[in-house]
Amino acid sequence: MSVRREFDVLIAGGGMVGAALAALLAGGERTRPLRVGLVEPQPALPPLPADPLELRVSALSRAAERLLVSVGAWSLVERRRPCAYERMLVWDGASAPAGAETLSFDAAEAGEPNLGHIVENRVVAAALIERALALGVTLLRSPVTALELAPDVARASVGGRTVTAGLVVAADGADSPLRQLAGLGGDGEVYPAEAIVTHLRPELPHGGAARQRFLATGPLGILPLADGRVSIVWSTTPAEAARLVALDDAGFAAAVTAASDGALGALAVSAPRVRFPLRRFNAASYAATRLVLVGDAAHTVHPLAGQGVNQGFLDVLALAEELGRALAEGGDPGDPRALGRYARARRADNALMGAALDALFRLFTDQRAAVRRGRRLGLALVNRAAPLKRLLIDRALGAP
Ligand SMILES: Cc1cc2nc3c(=O)[nH]c(=O)nc-3n(C[C@H](O)[C@H](O)[C@H](O)COP(=O)(O)OP(=O)(O)OC[C@H]3O[C@@H](n4cnc5c(N)ncnc54)[C@H](O)[C@@H]3O)c2cc1C
Repeated sequence: MSVRREFDVLIAGGGMVGAALAALLAGGERTRPLRVGLVEPQPALPPLPADPLELRVSALSRAAERLLVSVGAWSLVERRRPCAYERMLVWDGASAPAGAETLSFDAAEAGEPNLGHIVENRVVAAALIERALALGVTLLRSPVTALELAPDVARASVGGRTVTAGLVVAADGADSPLRQLAGLGGDGEVYPAEAIVTHLRPELPHGGAARQRFLATGPLGILPLADGRVSIVWSTTPAEAARLVALDDAGFAAAVTAASDGALGALAVSAPRVRFPLRRFNAASYAATRLVLVGDAAHTVHPLAGQGVNQGFLDVLALAEELGRALAEGGDPGDPRALGRYARARRADNALMGAALDALFRLFTDQRAAVRRGRRLGLALVNRAAPLKRLLIDRALGAP
């Protein structure tokens, strides 16, 4: 006997990843008939034109951009002038910023106009929610507080009532209450590191390049912004992060200029500083009865390569593909075979990315002399090995 359900797919969490899934399902050729609900207690609003640039920005790959274009959200993001980056420069703390040991990726080498864009997280989430609503998604502005997963239906408590669905998608971020309600564990650790995030004004033009310098305490990422400033993600020990955030503006500007080895001349403070704890996690399974995990709810990685939300968007594409297939075959969206295929494929890919980033973090913070020599040589070699470099560029562009 078939059970009446209010939604075919109920997505819990309208951050960048959940909102992308909602828009993609509602606009997709095969998935359009699905009734989609999006549960988000604090939906992102687009900033006003005079609002300053948000502190939380992400490097979006070309693959992520294509996803946003396909649901009509990219043109909304473009209104806020996302900054295209055309080059990536990576160097070790012991090398010179523009020496032979600097690994450089160029969009032109890949025949692409750029390697991606630096965007404000809030702008992306707001654009995707706007498109999802325009495409017929129902927004519920309360959190999911309880979950019951049965073979024939999923029940979620939202704003004091029970909502029924064929499939619940947990897109509720790294602390994922839904993952916990479903009893899905995983493998991870809190890094002995925190990231300081802020925007700075450089003395020299950033030239549309994303830079990363690996210091003994962790990587310093410097991303270009459209207004000429740069956004930094400076990963260091929690004690050092606390000290740096407490410095006065002149002290912090001097510290970050030294940490960047003067690659952009003197850096001047132009925004508040915030600290983020860093962790890695991969859920043991991305699927349970009538539930799947996507985005940070399923996996978190060190931000050193700007991969987190890009991996989440790849989850969204894979899940939409499986749901489209299940629907075309007359199945229901909670079909365990479709969910299993999604879960296995994405978990394996995210595990690979997580392990690679974890290894990079450990390799570059290892201060033994032989390791330091080896990695400088490694960067220089990768720089000259065309096929390996091509592979890395493809990955940066967002190829799964
Ligand atoms: C310092 C730093 C720099 C980063 N830089 C990059 C980068 O350059 N490129 C990149 O790709 N990634 C980057 N990341 C990672 C990226 O920010 C995350 O991967 C991304 O924000 C995750 O998006 P999400 O939608 O999965 O989760 P979130 O953005 O956490 O969204 C989860 C949503 O779920 C909602 N929610 C929570 N609980 C409930 C509930 N019970 N019911 C309903 N809704 C709920 C929340 O309100 C929230 O809106 C960075 C991360 C950090 C920490």
